[in-house]
Amino acid sequence: MKHYDFIIIGSGFYGAVLAERLHNIGKSVLVIDRRDHIGGNCYSYEYEDTNIIVHKYGTHIFHCSKKSTWDYINQFGEFNRYQHRVLTTFKNKVYSMPINLGTINAFYGINLKPDDVEAFINSKRPHITNPKNLEEKAISLIGIDLYEAFIKGYTKKQWGIDPKDLPAEIITRLPVRSSFFDSYFNDYYQGLPLNGYTSLFVNMLQDIPVELNTDFFKDREYWLKSCGTLIYTGQIDRYFNYSAGKLRWRSVKFEQTVVEIDDYQGTSVMNFADEDIPYTRIHEPKHLHLERNFKKNISVIIKENSCIDHDDPYYPVNSDSDKQLLDGYQKLAKGEKKVIFGGRLADYKYYDMYHTIEAALDRFKTIVS
Ligand SMILES: Cc1cc2nc3c(=O)[nH]c(=O)nc-3n(C[C@H](O)[C@H](O)[C@H](O)COP(=O)(O)OP(=O)(O)OC[C@H]3O[C@@H](n4cnc5c(N)ncnc54)[C@H](O)[C@@H]3O)c2cc1C
Repeated sequence: MKHYDFIIIGSGFYGAVLAERLHNIGKSVLVIDRRDHIGGNCYSYEYEDTNIIVHKYGTHIFHCSKKSTWDYINQFGEFNRYQHRVLTTFKNKVYSMPINLGTINAFYGINLKPDDVEAFINSKRPHITNPKNLEEKAISLIGIDLYEAFIKGYTKKQWGIDPKDLPAEIITRLPVRSSFFDSYFNDYYQGLPLNGYTSLFVNMLQDIPVELNTDFFKDREYWLKSCGTLIYTGQIDRYFNYSAGKLRWRSVKFEQTVVEIDDYQGTSVMNFADEDIPYTRIHEPKHLHLERNFKKNISVIIKENSCIDHDDPYYPVNSDSDKQLLDGYQKLAKGEKKVIFGGRLADYKYYDMYHTIEAALDRFKTIVS
């Protein structure tokens, strides 16, 4: 049995960053992943010979504010200058999101100026002192018209639950921009890796052994014995055999189609707010890479549907009962002296890529200090 300083369970950003950093200082590292590819949920691949890069687990746009994070990730591949803008279709008209001056003017057929927005929104908001649920909270923030158009149907499809039955605390604010600024992220750095995310992972994991199609739980004792420290980036409840119960996750399912057209929808991601349209979004990945030359008359489109599936984890549900469960598992994790837990699945948190990378870089500092 070969012995490693570190065995890392999971080749997503949390595992790959730690693998790269530890290898870089001369530690022996092995990465294992139960999937047949590296990169975790950021995995991308080129669709046949079309030159279109598809993100298998949903469109991923890299963004961050820290120069050190941007510099770190750029060591492994160059990025393009893509800037994300979210569009949403409601009753066959397209609006820009988050709600901004352009959205309000188009929706109400008016021509407000930036200074008019606050008073206009206030005039639409009923006074609700103690909103009892998400619907009341949203209406108290933006008024009934905008709520019914842009929040109600979309939220219902996302959660599979009527917003009247969702807790008010899910939203603390609903940003309304009083300018035409429609870039989704405020971060200074933004873009897509020119050759896709997988190429970044290939470069990060260069010279590091990786075993794919290998589930840690098939032989956990073997892996634990084979290393000084185990870094575990899988689901925390699974690590403890769900002894206190399962943490709940919202999931998404993707339905991919190839269409014989150069441009299907004119943008990378289109949201669909109408309740009677079953999917929440359509992704058209060629729009993420305008620098690429694509094969003519072909595009890949991917419809996204939301569902609850605790075994296919995307977004933590994070209810009070989940928080209590998590607390219990985190106490158990403290007792595992040889194991470091981290990443979105072990922390049971929604992390953007930059969060994940920064958390792994911080963890590396504590390992070497
Ligand atoms: C739909 C969607 C869209 C997103 N879009 C964006 C975006 O636009 N921008 C952004 O910044 N972030 C985005 N994110 C967040 C991004 O996906 C995460 O930040 C990132 O993937 C987290 O990396 P990770 O290493 O923690 O987890 P993961 O990428 O999930 O990696 C964990 C790895 O562990 C492996 N694993 C788990 N259990 C085992 C086991 N028992 N044995 C072996 N291997 C195991 C898994 O197979 C997986 O490869 C999005 C997330 C979702 C859900």
